[in-house]
Amino acid sequence: MPERAEELRAAVLAVRAASRVCLAVQEHLVGALEKSDKSPVTVADFASQAIVCRSLAAALPGDPIVGEEASDALREPGNAGLLAAVVEHVAAEIGARPSRDEVLGWIDHGGAEAKGRRYWTLDPIDGTKGFLRREQYAVALGLIEDGRVVLGVLGCPSLPTPGGGRGALFAAAAGAPARAFPLADGAASDGLPIAVDRIAEASKARFCESVESGHSNQQESARIAELLGITSEPYRIDSQCKYAAVARGDASIYLRMPTREDYREKIWDHAAGMLVVESAGGRVTDVDGHPLDFGRGSTLAGNRGIVATSGRIHGDVLDAIRRVRGAQRGS
Ligand code: AMP
Ligand code: MG
Repeated sequence: MPERAEELRAAVLAVRAASRVCLAVQEHLVGALEKSDKSPVTVADFASQAIVCRSLAAALPGDPIVGEEASDALREPGNAGLLAAVVEHVAAEIGARPSRDEVLGWIDHGGAEAKGRRYWTLDPIDGTKGFLRREQYAVALGLIEDGRVVLGVLGCPSLPTPGGGRGALFAAAAGAPARAFPLADGAASDGLPIAVDRIAEASKARFCESVESGHSNQQESARIAELLGITSEPYRIDSQCKYAAVARGDASIYLRMPTREDYREKIWDHAAGMLVVESAGGRVTDVDGHPLDFGRGSTLAGNRGIVATSGRIHGDVLDAIRRVRGAQRGS
């Protein structure tokens, strides 16, 4: 049996179920709450986290989960309607009637601290802004052991598939090729291996970045692209779908240029995506060329920004970043 086969099976089942819930919520989406950092959170973020945590806790009891969401806001009396909607969606997916407390408990099961030898990290909806715009978003689940990402699964319910449909799932386990599966497929499907492109000249690259200019400095990436001789327009998509785009060759570069000196990337925004790109033959570092360090708690405290590429052009991209950022510091 391949290494961590049980974990991979459990993660794929959990992400598939959560992706179904996201699609169901989107059919009659009512609105979002605002979190203390002003970012939005919806019924689907909570329901997705509840589903993944319930599913993983049943398959692998004792494994801690570091999830993005917590139930505090849902417990406020003013949000009783929102909580009722979360419970409804969870009930519809699991085919049983859980109590409110059970659902709140599943959400808070994802409140572990990022420490210890082994834990999962979950973004129940990465790219909530994309979800609200009915564009791209992802359910992202990674497994970290001894500070290394060893397993990653991305559910991308709205991502176009090569067959002309929508909805893809990407799975990677350290040491094995990354695979893509149709999201709607039965869990028994083996999927297909995916690979990054083989381009050797950065000028031929298509690069992707955040839709949100507050998440990545788009002026800086435009200067980097210009220096590399890239003439195509940036491919702007929300969430870790950017990693999926590089992993399957839709794009050759993903740039995430820091917008603020004090922002630290969150582990759940990158764990699964990074492993999918690396297992498809690509490279991932921060903007200074350092490997991402997943051994420092819930943030990538030792890293700034993200650069993911199909590999052969990685050094050229880092050189261009150094020149653009160096010129800024010098001016
Ligand atoms: P994206 O869809 O790639 O723009 O990324 C969405 C993620 O950006 C969210 O899950 C947030 O955790 C993260 N985020 C929020 N603020 C920032 C920021 N200032 N810089 C980088 N990422 C951020
Ligand atoms: Mg996120």
